[in-house]
Amino acid sequence: MDSRSWMYRDLPQGLRMMDYCNRIQGFINYTQYNPINISEEDIRCSCNRCKNKKFLGPDVIMMHLL
Ligand SMILES: [Zn+2]
Repeated sequence: MDSRSWMYRDLPQGLRMMDYCNRIQGFINYTQYNPINISEEDIRCSCNRCKNKKFLGPDVIMMHLL
């Protein structure tokens, strides 16, 4: 079984998930160029858990937002 198949379980065409990923990537790219949001390499995570208080790496933020 493909280990990534869960990502597409509720999305027959997988298109909405791809669109969502692209928008999150766009958000991360945007925050990386906004000095208010960054601390060294890390970015403020705006997920429900971190509430813009934690600075995390882009990969971690991607996981939180997904
Ligand atoms: Zn978070």
